[in-house]
Amino acid sequence: MLRPKLSLVIPVYNEEETLPELDRRLSEFLSQLTLVGNDWEVVFINDGSRDQSLTLLERMAAREQRYKVISFARNFGHQIAITAGLDRAEGDAVVVLDADLQDPPEVVTAMLEKAAEGYDVVYGVRRKRQGETIFKRVTASVFYRFIRAMTGVDIPVDAGDFRLMRRPVVLTMRALREQHRFVRGMVAWVGFRQTAVLYDREARFAGETKYPLRKMIRFAIDGITSFSVVPLKLATWLGLIGGVAAVLMGLALLAINFFDFGQVPGWTTIMVVLTFGFSAQLLMTGILGEYVGRIYEEIKRRPLYIAARELNFQGDGHAVRAVHADREHDGPVNSY
Ligand code: UDP
Ligand code: MG
Repeated sequence: MLRPKLSLVIPVYNEEETLPELDRRLSEFLSQLTLVGNDWEVVFINDGSRDQSLTLLERMAAREQRYKVISFARNFGHQIAITAGLDRAEGDAVVVLDADLQDPPEVVTAMLEKAAEGYDVVYGVRRKRQGETIFKRVTASVFYRFIRAMTGVDIPVDAGDFRLMRRPVVLTMRALREQHRFVRGMVAWVGFRQTAVLYDREARFAGETKYPLRKMIRFAIDGITSFSVVPLKLATWLGLIGGVAAVLMGLALLAINFFDFGQVPGWTTIMVVLTFGFSAQLLMTGILGEYVGRIYEEIKRRPLYIAARELNFQGDGHAVRAVHADREHDGPVNSY
């Protein structure tokens, strides 16, 4: 089979309300996309949806052979869904976008133009974010700046996973098989020629965000721990600060005693020192736990995801695939 010029990778989790509109917008957009002609495919990843999403996807795939579907055996999360899409997308250029139409398909044209100029990665930078809470906007903005300062990887500020990758980048990404995945950081890490296009992020077309606060925090911790060991070194600094504070306090107490300035207000001092010491120790134990837990999960070498069904891919109709963490660089997929 000839390689399509463009693959769209779209993770789907409980998106029954947006899929019909997504289908409409995609057909409209793809039919007038002169840059690649008819030479495209869309890889949908059904990330264990509990609503009618899979039924809708099946119907769409029956009508349009270029719509391909990987259906996970359960919910594995957004970043793993993107990974599965990158594993199977065959296009010369692969674009990852959200199913909720927050990343307008029309921006893909601008990305393709940049790719034609010779860029390997074109990421979408949000100029405006509509329909998102102030809380989400502020936390996102602080997070991107924080992680950039902390990791030393050039992760673009205010860019999500909406991006175009040319095939060499996609093949490189396939070689990175870590369990806890922060895809936008990994793409920044692999390098190549990268550039940005600006776009206005629209409000979610329908339904609710699939990223509640709990998932956002986990995502942020994954981002930081995947690219930085600075938190582990925090212990050294906390220890030093605590040590210096203890020496100063000791000197102060000695002076108070020696010059007989009056009673030492002992209770407060002791409580402050104790709570500081305890919380610093617990914090460091927690941070150690985050890293040790990740080592444990890597060492189990579980598959990154389990695809229960696949539609419109060549050769395999209903194969169950467990795609392993140690999958070879663009090699055959382990299956059982
Ligand atoms: N998504 C997914 N698995 C999940 C959560 C989300 O595949 O566990 C998909 C979701 O269907 C959407 C994309 O990831 O296509 C982004 O999610 P969402 O729009 O809810 O996140 P937000 O835009 O609010 O950050
Ligand atoms: Mg969204």
